Amino acid sequence: MSFEALGLHESIVKAVTEAGYTIPTPVQAQAVPAAIEGRDLLVSSQTGSGKTAAFMLPALHKFAVAEQSPAAKTAAQEAQSARARGERPRFKAAQPKMLVLTPTRELALQVTAATEKYGTGIRRIKAVSILGGMPYPKQMQLLARNPEILVATPGRLIDHMESGKIDFSELEVLVLDEADRMLDMGFIDDIEKIIAATPANRQTMLFSATLDGMVGNMARRITKDPMVIQI
Ligand code: AMP
Repeated sequence: MSFEALGLHESIVKAVTEAGYTIPTPVQAQAVPAAIEGRDLLVSSQTGSGKTAAFMLPALHKFAVAEQSPAAKTAAQEAQSARARGERPRFKAAQPKMLVLTPTRELALQVTAATEKYGTGIRRIKAVSILGGMPYPKQMQLLARNPEILVATPGRLIDHMESGKIDFSELEVLVLDEADRMLDMGFIDDIEKIIAATPANRQTMLFSATLDGMVGNMARRITKDPMVIQI
């Protein structure tokens, strides 16, 4: 089995090949084709299984395909057209297409770095981390660039959401990474609030060491007809 055989866009196959990957890991082999079809996923897998690429590659594939559409425009191009029409720049909330929630800063930074590596061939994709402990002005600057992908810890994301800096109405893909750890850390209310602000027709992928108990209950509530993958 190759990355090409999973149905991924050539720019992504090129990026993973450059990263030195030759064969998809078991979680990637199962998750990628289903996610490309648009299925929701519930995945029980451990760190080290290649789970980051399992959710990021199909999402990037979707954006790579959309980028080829003649109607696609970057936020910068839109701003330029608005200026050309004589419109004054005004404050606009960031409207990400993808959100990855992680329990810790470290994991968020790893996911952002992996996204940059896998998405290197997709011109219009920007990924930004929104983390507790990072200065607010720096984060506002990052959000003002209207990144397509946000990787965030729940608490800080809520702060920005509640102050109107982020609008999730255009969100297409939601990922909960290490969902069991997020619940153990007491993020349940924040997660529920964030999910309530996203469109019902989003694609949802949940990754967790276990799918039992509280995380299983939440998983079933927030996904539609999910493919369940146990590695
Ligand atoms: P993760 O489980 O996403 O934290 O990934 C664990 C490590 O495996 C990371 O260092 C990845 O760069 C690496 N990795 C992910 N997928 C593959 C693959 N198909 N082949 C080789 N290495 C991989």
